[in-house]
Amino acid sequence: NGPLLEVADLNVIYKTYEGTVAAVNGVEFSLEAGRTLGLVGESGAGKTTTALSIMGLVPSPPGIITSGSVNFAGKNLLSFSEKEMKKIRGNHISMIFQDPMTSLNPVVTVGIQISEALVAHQNLSEAEAEKKAMEMLEKVQIPGQRYREYPHEFSGGMRQRVVIAMALACNPGLIIADEPTTALDVTIQAQVLDLMRSLKEEFSTAMIMITHDLGVVGEVCDHVAVMYAGRIVETGSLEQIFGNARHPYTLGLFRCIPDIEEETSKIRPIEGLMPDPLDLPSGCPFHPRCPQCMDVCRTVVPGVLDDGGHRVMCHLYGKGGAAHA
Ligand code: SF4
Repeated sequence: NGPLLEVADLNVIYKTYEGTVAAVNGVEFSLEAGRTLGLVGESGAGKTTTALSIMGLVPSPPGIITSGSVNFAGKNLLSFSEKEMKKIRGNHISMIFQDPMTSLNPVVTVGIQISEALVAHQNLSEAEAEKKAMEMLEKVQIPGQRYREYPHEFSGGMRQRVVIAMALACNPGLIIADEPTTALDVTIQAQVLDLMRSLKEEFSTAMIMITHDLGVVGEVCDHVAVMYAGRIVETGSLEQIFGNARHPYTLGLFRCIPDIEEETSKIRPIEGLMPDPLDLPSGCPFHPRCPQCMDVCRTVVPGVLDDGGHRVMCHLYGKGGAAHA
């Protein structure tokens, strides 16, 4: 009984007119059934491309998965045909996007949209699927009788809840949520996150929560992987990362979390920008922005130190985990 999901040495490039973009660079992580991994980083870090690789949705062209494996329930999804992946998507792995309208059809009632997946994947009759779809709406705190309404009749927060109901309808082993609350009002964000957390427990679903916000990770995740310029630069349990973050980039992200008790002026964003993916810096990709940059960082890509499952990719941490700065 290995992990539900095991991603190993995943490399994805985009071939563009300007050159080749290394979007995902040797990414590896695993996820046990029922657990939640937060995939964190700024936009352009490779989080979404990692998710699309798992779903078999990397747009090709220009995207090419050049190497790696994505083992889900013991099978390498990268060897699956598109026909086989269609049976996986929505049934065994579902995805929730930032904008609910990415997943919703504006001219079909929400109830039909939830029941379509049930008819397609679970062999339910239309009547059974309708009953189950109404139950799913109730699960996301939407009255079942709103089954016959169209997406435009719902608020943004309710639409995202409809998408959550759709994602969970077939009881998938894994849900990938890509910034699911970023487009919502702050108060609605908290409600949707609460709902996701309780439904995930109820359905025992594993989840990958993609976010730029460590505050969201602290609310719902038990594992954390921090991505920068296509690489995972630090990963560990929630306790390891929140109690003992080591990578200068992770530490910078923590300084970006607004503290409602404190003045917002105390937020210190990380200076500089994510590097141009067409022209990644030599050595450690974070070195142009790193306050602790050393000479070696400019030329040598750091190795990964694994300290009891807390892995960090930084020259500050040599063999044995001692910091030499
Ligand atoms: Fe900073 Fe060097 Fe560590 Fe990169 S390897 S994060 S530049 S200290």
